[in-house]
Amino acid sequence: MRVVTGPTDRVVVVGAGLGGLACALHLAAAGRQVTVVEREPIPGGRAGRLSLQGYEFDTGPTVLTMPSLIEEPLAAVGERLADWLELEPLDPAYRAYYPDGSTLDVRTDTVRMAAEISRVCGPREADGYLRFVDFARKLWLLERDHFIGRNLDTPLDLVNLNLLKLLGMGGFRRLHGKVASFLRDPRTQRIFSFQAMYAGLAPHDALAIYAVIAYLDSVAGVYHPKGGMHAVPRALAGAAEKHGVVFRYETTVTSVETANGRATGVITADGERIPADVVVLNPDLPVADRELLPPRRRSRSLQFSPSCVVLHVGSRQAYGKIAHHNIHFGTHWKRTFDEVIRDGLLMSDPSLLVTNPTFTDPSAAPEGRQTYYVLAPTPNLSVGPMDWKTMGQRYADSLIRTLEARGYVGFGDGVEVMRIVTPADWEAQGMAAGTPFAAAHTFSQTGPFRPSNLHPVFPNVVFTGSGTQPGVGVPMVLISGKLAASRVTGASS
Ligand SMILES: Cc1cc2nc3c(=O)[nH]c(=O)nc-3n(C[C@H](O)[C@H](O)[C@H](O)COP(=O)(O)OP(=O)(O)OC[C@H]3O[C@@H](n4cnc5c(N)ncnc54)[C@H](O)[C@@H]3O)c2cc1C
Repeated sequence: MRVVTGPTDRVVVVGAGLGGLACALHLAAAGRQVTVVEREPIPGGRAGRLSLQGYEFDTGPTVLTMPSLIEEPLAAVGERLADWLELEPLDPAYRAYYPDGSTLDVRTDTVRMAAEISRVCGPREADGYLRFVDFARKLWLLERDHFIGRNLDTPLDLVNLNLLKLLGMGGFRRLHGKVASFLRDPRTQRIFSFQAMYAGLAPHDALAIYAVIAYLDSVAGVYHPKGGMHAVPRALAGAAEKHGVVFRYETTVTSVETANGRATGVITADGERIPADVVVLNPDLPVADRELLPPRRRSRSLQFSPSCVVLHVGSRQAYGKIAHHNIHFGTHWKRTFDEVIRDGLLMSDPSLLVTNPTFTDPSAAPEGRQTYYVLAPTPNLSVGPMDWKTMGQRYADSLIRTLEARGYVGFGDGVEVMRIVTPADWEAQGMAAGTPFAAAHTFSQTGPFRPSNLHPVFPNVVFTGSGTQPGVGVPMVLISGKLAASRVTGASS
């Protein structure tokens, strides 16, 4: 494994996103002097917090899987997850709503889930589900140990017996085909392949290796932290601070200082110089590369994931039939992915995620009120440049009409507060192509082909976060923090 050369005692981590925080904890555990420099007044980055008139909203991730990956950076400094976070398993993990009026509760317990699938789709489908779970579990264990949790320097690092195993399991076939080899009903096919969207691709284009996202989501369990998802970065930052990491909030880094081919520190917007032996960059990788580092002659052009519009709604309306997470599938399937990912169009027949955090944690809203988080996938700004300043409200209104037509009676009338977040906002927050979901996980942007976490020119500049390996999402960026730290410490990842 390639590692940072030269001294590594003083590390400046730019950004207190989940990647930066995990990295800071692993570095502190290895005895490094760590300073985290964060632009915002709070940690978390995309896992941030929005407070509006007594309502509390998570700004980014809402679906928490794999808490063991939060445990890991805490354990590195000798802390226990249970002392920092209260996690509640969600049951069901999701409730899926189909255009034919049927619903399916996604349960983590495979026996109960098989019974649910049998109820909705028949016993043969339940059998296919159990075989799918077996496949996805094996796939996850293989990928976790040999491909995701390791620093990969070249594609040759992958060439071993495990690659053959992955090939043999059909990991490099298309996800849709692989899922369809276990499941025949379009409803179960959807619930175990829509997660390809998280990887920035349609199930027809994504590799079957991404069946692991469905596994983490639907089989390994979905949790809600008390206080919302933002409690996760707060916990990591609290533990890091306790173990000597220095946090400089409300401090924007404007450049990485370099001399003689090495980074020597960072410069802040106030002109302050913070010296460093190593600089770890957590901002969105293409933006960090472009704006914080000296220009390079050849920088790689990337294909980005789709983006999204999020509506944060504080409401007087409650709905008795919904769960914490609700997925409303439109009639069209392939066409929806084509519109958003390929054609740069808004969904003509929206598929939506509606999360109702107050279902689990009423303290997120004033007495008797509800919070809703509505996420609609949209094109990113490279594929579908749109004037979101004028369109944002109109699109929000149309999403509300869609929700009302799908059973959220009086949704619009119930709105007490609303914040609309669009791709233009993601871009303004420093995310390339106006997407918070980074480079898509195409074959050429996966594993060793994804931008490396070691800078190609400066040997002491390291990246962490969703733009680098292994990829996007809370579990992956927590792993990326550990991988970045091991580039600094030389510890095997
Ligand atoms: C709407 C939405 C929904 C999502 N849903 C899910 C989900 O349900 N489940 C899931 O697993 N994942 C989900 N994700 C993805 C997940 O949130 C991200 O992959 C992950 O949080 C990214 O973490 P990061 O460390 O890469 O970056 P970030 O969180 O972006 O952290 C980067 C940090 O760097 C700081 N920074 C940037 N520039 C500077 C600078 N110049 N100086 C100082 N500081 C700077 C930023 O303020 C930020 O704190 C979602 C994301 C969004 C936005």
